Amino acid sequence: MSFRNLVLCSPILEAIREAGYTEPTPIQTAAIPPILAGHDLIGIAQTGTGKTAAFAWPILTKLSEQATPAGRRAPQALILAPTRELAAQIQENLRTYGKHLPLRVASIYGGVRERPQIEALRSGVDILVACPGRLLDLHGQGYGDLSAIRYLVLDEADRMLDMGFLPAIRQILRKLPRERQTLLFSATLCPEIEVLTREFLRSPKSVEIGRRANPAETVTQFVYEVAPHLKTALLLHLLQDPKLDMVLAFARTKHRADRLARQLERSGVKTATLHSNRSQSQRMRALRDFKAGAARVLVATDIAARGIDVDGISHVINFDLPQNPEDYVHRIGRTGRAQAIGDAISFVSPEERGPLRSLERFLGRGIPRKRAEGFNHDLPAPEPSDAGEAPARPVRPIQPRRAPRSWSRAPRARRSPV
Ligand code: AMP
Repeated sequence: MSFRNLVLCSPILEAIREAGYTEPTPIQTAAIPPILAGHDLIGIAQTGTGKTAAFAWPILTKLSEQATPAGRRAPQALILAPTRELAAQIQENLRTYGKHLPLRVASIYGGVRERPQIEALRSGVDILVACPGRLLDLHGQGYGDLSAIRYLVLDEADRMLDMGFLPAIRQILRKLPRERQTLLFSATLCPEIEVLTREFLRSPKSVEIGRRANPAETVTQFVYEVAPHLKTALLLHLLQDPKLDMVLAFARTKHRADRLARQLERSGVKTATLHSNRSQSQRMRALRDFKAGAARVLVATDIAARGIDVDGISHVINFDLPQNPEDYVHRIGRTGRAQAIGDAISFVSPEERGPLRSLERFLGRGIPRKRAEGFNHDLPAPEPSDAGEAPARPVRPIQPRRAPRSWSRAPRARRSPV
C-alpha cells in the first residue's frame, strides 16, 4: 500500500515525504481508512508500530478540511496520554506532521509550571494533548474548554488504567460532547479496556497489529552473567566498541541509575539520566541530549522510560533485570523500533538467575549467554544448560493473555522506588 491510497490531505503527504517514510506501517494501513470514514476504533498496537501517525494523520486531515476559525478557538481534538514524555512526544509528532497546516497543537501535563499551558489554552488550540490529571486541574480552574471536542484519542489506554487514571478519564469523558469520534489505542485488550470501550465507544471497528508478547524480532538479545560489583566495569568495557553509539541503560532504582550515571561520567562517557525524581525540565533535557547525540548513554528507570520513542537506539542494556517480564519486553522494544536492528543485553548477577529463569519461561525460550571478550566476569563458566539453550525447567508456551500479570490493580507508581 502506498501513502496515496490512504487519502490523506496533501500537506500531510508532503510532511510524510519530508520525514522520509516510504510506506505506511501495518497499523497505519489498517486504522486510517476506518478513522477517515468516521468510525470509532479500537487499535491494539504497541508504541513503536507507528500508531501515533495512525491517529494523527487522519485527525489532521479531517481538521484541515474544516474552516479554521480565526483567533481564539476551543480544541476540537483531545488526545489523552499516560505520561508527560508521551504527551510531549505526541505533540512533537503532530507538529511535524501538521507543519504545513495552520493548526495549533498544545500539550498539558504535570511537573511543569501551569502558566505557559494556561496561556496556550487561552490563545486558542485546535488539538490538545494532555495527561488526565493536569487536564482536570486546569479545567477545574476554568481553562481548557472541552465543549468543542469532536475527536478523542485514548492513547496507551492500558497504561493509563494501570496508572490509576480510570476515575480521571471517566470525569473527562463526561465533559465531552456525545457527538464525537473516539479512538482507543492499547497494547492489549484486557477486561478493563473492554469495559471502557463498551462504555465510551460506539460500534467501534477493531484493528490489531503485531501483539508483542514476543519481543520485536529485529532485536538480538543476550545475557552476560557477571559478578554484581563488575557490572559498571563490564558496561565500560562494552562501551569501548563504537557500535554502541546510542545506549539506553535500565537500572532498578533511581539511586542505582544516579550512581551508574555518575560512574560513567567520571569515566568520560557522556551520560543523561531519566527517572521520576528529576524535574520535568531535567527529563526533557536528558531526552533532548540523548536524541541529539550529546549524551551517548541514557540511564533510566522503568517508569520514566515508558513510551519514550527515540529513533536509532543501538543497544538497550538491562544493567539490572526488571522486576517483571512485561517490563523486559517493554524495555527491549525501545530498540529495534521501526525495523531498525538493535541489541538488547542483560547483565545478570548470580542473585538474578531466578528472575532470569522466570523471564525465560515467560518468553518461552532461553536467552543466549555470552562472555565479553577480554573481560573477566569473575564467575565460573556458565553451566551447559545456561549456555544459550532453553532453560532447564520446562518452558511454558506463551498464551494469548487477556490481562498480563504486571497489570495489577495497584498503581505502578507505588510499586517500586523507580
Ligand atoms: P510510534 O509507534 O508512534 O511511537 O512510532 C514509532 C516510530 O516510527 C516513530 O519514530 C515514527 O517516526 C516512526 N514511523 C511512523 N510511521 C512510519 C512509517 N510509515 N515509516 C517509517 N517510520 C515510521
